[in-house]
Amino acid sequence: MGAIDGRQFLERLDSTPRELWYGDEKITGAVSSHPAFRGAAKSIAALYDMQAKPELRDLMTYRSPTSGEPVGTSYLQPRTKEDLAKRTAMMKVWANYSGGVMGRTADYLNSCVMAMAAAKEFFGMEGRGYATNIQSYYEHVRERELLLTHTLINPQSNRAVGPSKQADPFIAARVVEKGSEGVTIRGARMLATLPMADEIMVFPSTVVRSGQDDLPYSIAFALPVSTRGLKFVCRESFSTGSAYDHPLGARFDEQDAVVVFDDVVVPWERVFILEDPEKANRVSEATDAIVFMAHQATVREAAKVEFVAGLVTLVAETIGADQFPQVQEKISEILLSEEMMKAFISASEANAHVNKWGLMTPDYVPINSARNLWPKVAPSLSVVLKQIGASGLMAIPPEETLGSKIRPDVDRYYQARTADAEERIGLFKLAWDLAGSSFAGRQDLYERFFFGDPVRMASAYYSWYDKEPYKERVKELLHRKE
Ligand SMILES: Cc1cc2nc3c(=O)[nH]c(=O)nc-3n(C[C@H](O)[C@H](O)[C@H](O)COP(=O)(O)OP(=O)(O)OC[C@H]3O[C@@H](n4cnc5c(N)ncnc54)[C@H](O)[C@@H]3O)c2cc1C
Repeated sequence: MGAIDGRQFLERLDSTPRELWYGDEKITGAVSSHPAFRGAAKSIAALYDMQAKPELRDLMTYRSPTSGEPVGTSYLQPRTKEDLAKRTAMMKVWANYSGGVMGRTADYLNSCVMAMAAAKEFFGMEGRGYATNIQSYYEHVRERELLLTHTLINPQSNRAVGPSKQADPFIAARVVEKGSEGVTIRGARMLATLPMADEIMVFPSTVVRSGQDDLPYSIAFALPVSTRGLKFVCRESFSTGSAYDHPLGARFDEQDAVVVFDDVVVPWERVFILEDPEKANRVSEATDAIVFMAHQATVREAAKVEFVAGLVTLVAETIGADQFPQVQEKISEILLSEEMMKAFISASEANAHVNKWGLMTPDYVPINSARNLWPKVAPSLSVVLKQIGASGLMAIPPEETLGSKIRPDVDRYYQARTADAEERIGLFKLAWDLAGSSFAGRQDLYERFFFGDPVRMASAYYSWYDKEPYKERVKELLHRKE
């Protein structure tokens, strides 16, 4: 089958049964037509359509080593720096499409599975041949271009104790029993962004560490979303209204869901780690999946800062605020962030090396630095948009106003230096959707947390970073005799 286009994605979305709960409704009709999902579904379809465009096909796909068919570039196991550059360029094209606000486009988890499969020996041949399972899974999703979602986190009931010490030891998803068909899982996991996916991967967090008490929770597996007993409980959609009123929310709300496993049977061939805290703690780093996922994330983040740089400059120019030094200083702050994110990517690729599993791997030092800096950079984007947009961010009447009798007043009083009223209002609605709307609020939370708790990430960064050479330099100066 190989690389799919948008139509194939939408057909699969609508024909795959899944227990998707939205409010009091278990969605039974076409998911792609549901108001909560249709905007993002259409956007994801547009991304897949790019793979079929003659001018993009060579960048967006490569020949599958098994079938010879074109498959998506984010599955490419890079062996050279050129491969790595191709992955980056492909991911940037996808990220640019949404201005970087869609965090969980397929390339994020494709990068994870790709790296884990290259490192299959890490999973081992004990038990039911976990190494073979991860390799087969990678080929399975690559050859069908299956869209993945994932859950890493246990429900947030009581963080003071681990999953086995909760009031109910079956709140967090865990092994119930092992049988001839597979492993039965009961409990819940958070937080599956993109429940429109074809498959769900359940993996350990890159930040949370497990001990022996956590044996039944130390698992990694993958399942089709249609598996019996699997339920997705969605949050309220931010995809309400028209694309004029909500330029981002109406198009790019990926949705987030808590996932319930109601005695779900995971077939043995879909199990990758079983009751193994030591492996669960190490899997992301040992396989370098974390590096490739963070690399994708940094490319997406660079796209987002570029988009905000364009947006905030337009906002300032439109109202003639671009001439003020403090406005220029704030926009420069965004431009500096943009250059910094791009420099992290360039440095990671310039210093890429072949890892122990044979993949040309971006240097993790700049990539991990980007990963830790981003939760601080991202909130500043909306702050600057608010500082410069000011009350104009509230001079955004609903689209219907433009078709009403008050329109002549709107045309007169909402016009700006470089735009008529309709254009100005549209631009400021876009700025509000990035800086202050409910969609923007979710964006802010996403950027702070999507790669794990930033506090524990920073603490891990402190321990991991090699500070010795700098300490030595200080000591040398202190002890210098002359
Ligand atoms: C919009 C959004 C989308 C997401 N999408 C996904 C997804 O697709 N897949 C997925 O798997 N996850 C996803 N996540 C979840 C993400 O992985 C978590 O938010 C992140 O790992 C932090 O975990 P938590 O939210 O449970 O916070 P918690 O761990 O509950 O932390 C809450 C607070 O307590 C502090 N805290 C808790 N425990 C400790 C501790 N032991 N030591 C020190 N401080 C502690 C934290 O610093 C934080 O301030 C998403 C999150 C958001 C917000």
